[in-house]
Amino acid sequence: MKHNFGAGPCILPQEVFQEASQAILNFNDTGLSILEISHRSKEFEAVVAETERLVRELLAVPQGYSILFLQGGASMQFAMVPLNLLPEGGKAAYLDTGTWASKAIKEAKKVGDVAVVASSADANYNYIPKAYGIPVDAAYFHYTSNNTIFGTEIFETPISTAPLVCDMSSDILSRKINVADYGLIYAGAQKNMGPAGVTLVIVKDDLLGKTGRTLPTIFDYQPHIAAGSMYNTPPVFSIYVSMLNLRWLKSKGGVEVIEQENIIKARTLYDEIDRNPLFRGTAVPEDRSRMNVTFVMEDKVHEDAFLALAKERGLVGLKGHRSVGGFRASIYNALSITGVNALVDAMQEFEEKNK
Ligand code: PLP
Repeated sequence: MKHNFGAGPCILPQEVFQEASQAILNFNDTGLSILEISHRSKEFEAVVAETERLVRELLAVPQGYSILFLQGGASMQFAMVPLNLLPEGGKAAYLDTGTWASKAIKEAKKVGDVAVVASSADANYNYIPKAYGIPVDAAYFHYTSNNTIFGTEIFETPISTAPLVCDMSSDILSRKINVADYGLIYAGAQKNMGPAGVTLVIVKDDLLGKTGRTLPTIFDYQPHIAAGSMYNTPPVFSIYVSMLNLRWLKSKGGVEVIEQENIIKARTLYDEIDRNPLFRGTAVPEDRSRMNVTFVMEDKVHEDAFLALAKERGLVGLKGHRSVGGFRASIYNALSITGVNALVDAMQEFEEKNK
């Protein structure tokens, strides 16, 4: 049995992969593959409708918000957000908390004026800046709720008079959020929702169509909304597998239940990192992510040996991102507490061997 601590793409429960593999051969007894049925068929329309219903239900999305399933990844949203929400001559505010936030800033600057309200680049993004002001004339305030690479997470919704825009790629569906606090939420699906290839966008309708900018149709949210995410050929398989995974999440009791599991998983692992003299967490304790746990060894020479021991125990994907080094244990919804306990056991075994 393998436990996959990889940061992505697409860590889903085994039963979801199993059901998805069946549908490649015979989708819903149609005798056809999910990959070949028409995306305009009533069968596939039902898939999109159910996926949207499940997102709406699991995240309690209120009226007045549209839900979109787009292509292009979260990276395309770095550009689509300013193109659709930053008026000609206006200004947007951004918080810089890591690689992905910086990339979002870089793209927004190509569209208009950007105020970076604070950055934690000075400490290799190991904390979340707290003291900053958002310009009163900002069209929106953009932040990244979970910094996948640096292992920090923002749990408290920032207070802002400007509409909030949030990149939730790596923590969406891992904990309760209040969608009504946001103007727009986007997330590449490939952590807690489904396979790479589909990007979830939840947008407050009355924010759109106000920039004075004419956009190529594919970059404009409104035609996608009007076409129910079917403006062009949608990523059918990624949407289908997302639907299966959302059904799984619902059957477990939904976001509130998974949030409690995620709290326990994160606490178990951070407790061991803090207790075990060989290891040290890289993010400041108050901003530690529940999804991506970044840590190093006090003595780096042991790192490869620990990775080898972990691999022997079926624990894969633990090597840290090159910008932080050491280890990164991604403990998304589908990674069970059994996996976390197995990692803790391996850390204790390694400590024993290296006494
Ligand atoms: N934002 C965050 C927080 C991410 O973790 C990632 C990728 O891991 C991205 C954006 C980029 O997503 P994509 O590869 O879908 O463009």
